[in-house]
Amino acid sequence: MATGKINVSVENIFPLIKKFLYSDHEIFLRELVSNATDATLKLKHLTTIGETTVEYGNPMIEIKIDKEGKKIHITDQGLGMTEEEVQKYINEVAFSGAEEFLDKYKDSAKDSGIIGHFGLGFYSAFMVAEKVEIITKSYKDEPAAHWTCDGSPNFIMEPSDKTDRGTEIILHIAEDSTEFLEKNRISELLGKYNKFMPVPIKFGTRTETLPKPEGAKKEDKAPTIEVDNIINNPNPAWTKMPADLKEEDYKGFYRELYPMQFEEPLFHIHLNVDYPFNLTGILYFPKLKNDLNVQKDRIQLYQNQVFVTDNVEGIVPEFLTMLRGVIDSPDIPLNVSRSYLQADGAVKKIASYITRKVADKLSSLFKNNREDFEAKWNDIKIVIEYGMLSEDKFFEKADKFALYPTVDGNFYTFEELQKKIKDNHTDKDDKLVILYASNKEAQHSYIETAKARGFEVLLLDSPIVPHLIQKLETSKENISFARVDADHLDNLIKKEDTQISKLSEEEKEQLKTVLDEVIQNKSYTVQLEAMDSDAVPFIITEPEFLRRMKEMQQTGGGG
Ligand code: ADP
Ligand code: MG
Repeated sequence: MATGKINVSVENIFPLIKKFLYSDHEIFLRELVSNATDATLKLKHLTTIGETTVEYGNPMIEIKIDKEGKKIHITDQGLGMTEEEVQKYINEVAFSGAEEFLDKYKDSAKDSGIIGHFGLGFYSAFMVAEKVEIITKSYKDEPAAHWTCDGSPNFIMEPSDKTDRGTEIILHIAEDSTEFLEKNRISELLGKYNKFMPVPIKFGTRTETLPKPEGAKKEDKAPTIEVDNIINNPNPAWTKMPADLKEEDYKGFYRELYPMQFEEPLFHIHLNVDYPFNLTGILYFPKLKNDLNVQKDRIQLYQNQVFVTDNVEGIVPEFLTMLRGVIDSPDIPLNVSRSYLQADGAVKKIASYITRKVADKLSSLFKNNREDFEAKWNDIKIVIEYGMLSEDKFFEKADKFALYPTVDGNFYTFEELQKKIKDNHTDKDDKLVILYASNKEAQHSYIETAKARGFEVLLLDSPIVPHLIQKLETSKENISFARVDADHLDNLIKKEDTQISKLSEEEKEQLKTVLDEVIQNKSYTVQLEAMDSDAVPFIITEPEFLRRMKEMQQTGGGG
């Protein structure tokens, strides 16, 4: 038996780690399972490159709770450690064996999926444990080692009689952390952080029902067996090549990600790039309500298949946070606890890559199946319009496929719309005036009037339309928008026959006198020519700019 001192310059680093390094105690399990995964992947790598001839087999990681003994065991069948290695990797705080491995095997190991990085993950165990043991046997032919540490800088090292390769970590759970001795709590953590990790993880067993044997009677119970309860899918869809996946696989993966979500996604975007940064993932367009206040934490960020966070702010452009799915990138610079994004040029590149891929996908959907794109427009427009407002690069691309529906259900791109209306929607200054309604029912009379005069009326009802209109007016030349109830109609060059009112001149005169008296507000205009219906013989309009000013005041300013 040997004793020694853990090699840190600060006399007692543990209280610091416990308090400040990780804000979230529950991540200890993620870190320890990550180390177990790394140990397994390292062995896999060594056997693949022929550095060792040991049998790799079908290794798995097992988590066990010993509630009575107040212990959690995390056991792997990875490469293990010699006593010397424990001294080096464990006793030297902030020395990462993962990084050393990646350095040593540089090119060949760059796609090995090894997770570790900072050399601090292991110590997160002390956030929940008052004592930690490591019992480990290396794949090399050397005796097993047993390390024990009670959270002070002093550790004990002794021999162990462990014979099978791999490492067992035993956590003696502290009094204030007994929640982690509950099966449900651990299940929850495994489901959150480890659901797609690359090595099978066993947590207990479950009962599986087998088909009844032939000739069984009705009242006979179907036979059951106990099988390993594997909590993860080691090969999630996003790690595969798009060419190897069918539409059904993408839908299946969506259900795996969101088991409680019964509506199918509209379409997906498979992200897959390895230069200048490494990023994979699948984004889904769900059916979106016409509302900006949708829940925005539905894209999950992974690093080498380890869940990191569902707050992707800063990595995914704001307008795309309404989508769902996963992105996985080892290159996203996170701090040690992986909970904060470190501002970085690479992050900007990632965001613009994602924006470009989404724009390209939308563009190809538009080109390849316009009819289907139109049918989906109402469910996706909020993202596209929001994107056009907030990202100039996206605006440029989306300008070619963004649709402008008319009240009659036709869809035009901006260019098509311009062509369609250029002959009769121009005002005195030769400016193209685009008429739109924001509410088909409330503005029904105005819409009918405009249509009766031969104008096209768009139906723009997203909450951000006032802002989008401003954006279009400033980025395109010689156009302006006017809502159907604005006083623009008379300024437009009319068709020949617009005297559609059924009132006589005398009736009009009388009506006008009455109305002018009733409507005190001088900013409104009464138009008697307008209507083709007896039921609504006149309309009242308000200048476009006045209404917009009011709207802007209500929504709290311009941009
Ligand atoms: P990192 O994973 O960032 O390298 P950790 O503090 O999590 O840092 O772990 C430190 C080192 O301890 C690892 O790099 C690895 O060399 C060693 N280690 C930890 N857990 C295991 C394990 N289960 N099997 C083998 N080696 C391990
Ligand atoms: Mg680690």
